[in-house]
Amino acid sequence: MKPETIDLDALETAARQLDPDARERARLMKAVFAYADRYLESLPDQPAYFDRPDNGRALRETPIPEEGIGLDAALELLRQHVDTVGINPTSGRFLGYIPGGGLFHAALGDFLAAVTNRYAGVFFAGPGAVRIENLLIRWMARLAGYPETAAGYLAAGGSLANLTAIVTARDDRGLEGDAIARAVVYFTEHVHHSVNKALRLAGLRRLARRRIPVDTRYRMDAAALERAIEADRRAGLAPWMVIASAGTTNTGSVDPLDTIGQIAAAHGLWYHIDAAYGGFFALCEDGAALLRGMNRSDSLVMDPHKTLFLPYGTGALLVRDGQKLHAAHAAEADYLQDTYADGGDETELSPADLSPELTKHFRGLRLWLPLQVVGLAPFRAALAEKLLLARYFHERMRSVDGFEVGPAPDLSVVIYRYVPPRGDADAFNERLAEALRRDGRIFVSSTRLNGQFWLRMAAVGFRTHREDIDTAIEVLERTARRLAAL
Ligand SMILES: *Cc1c(COP(=O)(O)O)cnc(C)c1O
Repeated sequence: MKPETIDLDALETAARQLDPDARERARLMKAVFAYADRYLESLPDQPAYFDRPDNGRALRETPIPEEGIGLDAALELLRQHVDTVGINPTSGRFLGYIPGGGLFHAALGDFLAAVTNRYAGVFFAGPGAVRIENLLIRWMARLAGYPETAAGYLAAGGSLANLTAIVTARDDRGLEGDAIARAVVYFTEHVHHSVNKALRLAGLRRLARRRIPVDTRYRMDAAALERAIEADRRAGLAPWMVIASAGTTNTGSVDPLDTIGQIAAAHGLWYHIDAAYGGFFALCEDGAALLRGMNRSDSLVMDPHKTLFLPYGTGALLVRDGQKLHAAHAAEADYLQDTYADGGDETELSPADLSPELTKHFRGLRLWLPLQVVGLAPFRAALAEKLLLARYFHERMRSVDGFEVGPAPDLSVVIYRYVPPRGDADAFNERLAEALRRDGRIFVSSTRLNGQFWLRMAAVGFRTHREDIDTAIEVLERTARRLAAL
């Protein structure tokens, strides 16, 4: 035998460890499912925030090994240093920021997407995977009230979806060179910071930004918007885009979408709605009423990893005129020439031509599978439940001694703070937030409004039910009273 043959055999033997056989797979799956089961079974007893000063630092000392340490040891590292530090977004008592999801059915979809590794970027390569992504996009487009001409894609999240929308609007309106400095974008101070980041990434640093005032419920003042557009026109500027928030991150406020849509149309502006948090509330009746006017937008962002309870890594962008999204993102290369055959179905666009990505995770499966298995009804119920829970929390906190609440919530975010009889309220609430983190049973985040420090409660998680809200109220009341007594 030639020496190369011997080497090849040895290499093959070593390489085959990458492809475990049926017995080994069964053992691995059993261990992983046991881990997942223990994780989920113990969740009711786990904190919503792990106050661990080391933050899993020991993980830094674990080398990437030449010889594997085996699954059990690896899972133990996860348990010790990853799943028991930081926020616990899977807890029903996690009420901070915009809570995420983690549907079990979606996890199974992720598992299958990884095992089968269907190619979701190009129709030729993964017609089934692309059909699933596109049918989910068509379903969302119908939910938004968009016409059949709409297109979109499943993004990694709302930030990337906002960026893709801004790039599309930029190219559609030919914003380049000196035109940028004359263009104007309109939003309120409560617009998500990913919008400012996207404007920067899109090369639009030089355009003018108008912060339109809000009413007492932190919603855009539509009359002020119109006045600002008219003033800019008179000054020789070129109003370009208005961005409404359908569910601000600060207070969950929904800008007057319908009126803004009429103004945008009358003045020829691109109308973008950032509904990353709030968009899917259109699945329940009260939410749909609040989101009326969503259909007037040119582009719309919704985050399934927020209000469809998916694991992190799934946002969505919809563009009313799909051609515009395509025009801003389609690209060709010689080495992809075989993929341009349409496979006999010209109606399916490729996500790669509608987004910055080429090769991508088969994201659609994690959404399609839960929707197929349990149907839409439980999603509608969970979203309607969140709206009620926010009202319930707002109502009850109003009468808890010492607390002050913000406006009645549009969606499922409530702001509130403790007003101590003496001393600085901001400093007190900062200490309260810190004490709550040390306690860990609930997690709430904070923000600043009109220069003041406020606490937020966001009911978004699919595991958040009435008893979690009751726990939150009790913990808030006790912790504040204890601090006030010091
Ligand atoms: C969360 C959020 C974003 C950003 O989305 P990511 O998925 O975190 O990138 C944008 N806008 C709003 C209103 C949000 O709530």
